Amino acid sequence: MADTLTAFPIVLTEDHDTKAGNYFVSNYPPYSFWKPEYASEAIAAIERAPHPNTELGVYLHIPFCRRRCHFCYFRVYTDKNASEIMRYIESAIAEIKLYGQKAFIGGRKPKFVYFGGGTPSYLSTSQLKYLTDSMKEVLPWDSAEEITFECEPGTLTEAKVKVIRGIGVTRLSLGVEHFDERILKLNGRAHGASEIDRAYGFVRENGFPQVNIDLIAGMMGDTDEGWEFAIKRTLELQPDSVTIYQMEIPYNTTIYRDMQTQGNEIAPVAGWSKKRQWVTYAFEQLEANGYTITSAYTATKNPEKTKFVYRDQLWSGADLIGLGVASFSHIGGTHFQNQHNLDPYIEKLEKGELPIYRALTPTPEERLIRELILQSKLGTIRKSYFQQKFGVDLLTRFAEEFQTIFETGYLHDEGDILRFTRQGLLQVDRLVHEFFLPPHRDARYA
Ligand code: SF4
Repeated sequence: MADTLTAFPIVLTEDHDTKAGNYFVSNYPPYSFWKPEYASEAIAAIERAPHPNTELGVYLHIPFCRRRCHFCYFRVYTDKNASEIMRYIESAIAEIKLYGQKAFIGGRKPKFVYFGGGTPSYLSTSQLKYLTDSMKEVLPWDSAEEITFECEPGTLTEAKVKVIRGIGVTRLSLGVEHFDERILKLNGRAHGASEIDRAYGFVRENGFPQVNIDLIAGMMGDTDEGWEFAIKRTLELQPDSVTIYQMEIPYNTTIYRDMQTQGNEIAPVAGWSKKRQWVTYAFEQLEANGYTITSAYTATKNPEKTKFVYRDQLWSGADLIGLGVASFSHIGGTHFQNQHNLDPYIEKLEKGELPIYRALTPTPEERLIRELILQSKLGTIRKSYFQQKFGVDLLTRFAEEFQTIFETGYLHDEGDILRFTRQGLLQVDRLVHEFFLPPHRDARYA
């Protein structure tokens, strides 16, 4: 689940009701500052040799789903037939072949590969084999530490799960979102509760090193009892990690369109303090059952063994080739995004051109702020890391910003470490706006 496309204002202030807008901060500077006129910077970056000691990763966006969830804000298509999907796959293969010839590769092999969506598991077994064999011919995965694959439970058969393991996937992420049949239906999910159990059985039988379950706190119709049930079921399945998002309602969701029709400003989902209460409950239950909270969204059963290579590499500046419609790349210090509609994406590749739509090369100060924001989401900020990497004393450079956050009581200074409290961590996406440079503060985010 990756890409937002429309421009949204950020939800900046503490708000008890859930209103329309983006909450989750996934990058910095905001996407509205990425421009088509900077696309030449991306082209220049891929023609240069890589920076020393920089890892390489590959992301592929599969923009197809069985149906559109009411809260979905991703670029997805629910009406494509097999030949249209095949045309998309051919385009993604053409894209990786174009990248494969460029100087920035510098002989590197991917350290991590990520299949996101949309629904990667919507692809058939033969499509999957053809796609991944072709990708590996260009950039072999034999030295990759992590291959992640997102799945919707209702798309998984025993045969498909075998193929997914066979192509080398090490981390399978199951988009469960909730376990209650009524809530799944009410929110427009394509799968039901029984399909979760079935899919989970196939996944466990195939020995994936890491299985993750995604949940959403605050789906329409949820209650304290409903959420307690979801956490109880999660604990029974014992996944290696659990990711919990707090429901946000961006402007291009079906829920928002219904709100507009009905003249409602407040979304028909739980308010922010209730959602935080639910995540607090979930984290406490998970901790009581041996899990460790490793970020604002993640609980991990065995942090020594269960790593998040994609996230950690990306947040600390690895190069990423983003393949597919609307995908985000980062190469040699420049961020860029592909064409965000299917037809222009495919047409560009069929003409033999890279489908780059907009780009931005952050300044050194923006790179520092980006890392500060992203590390905050892990719950701790290490001062010495910023001193070594950027030559900056954080508490001097951001004296006012930190003062404002310290006054909330959500952040503590523990010497080299600045640590968010649990309640701070659960609203970190709101707090990190303090670090935004003035031109970005009122930005339209996506
Ligand atoms: S499964 Fe639902 S939320 Fe996820 S990308 Fe598809 S439509 Fe969107």
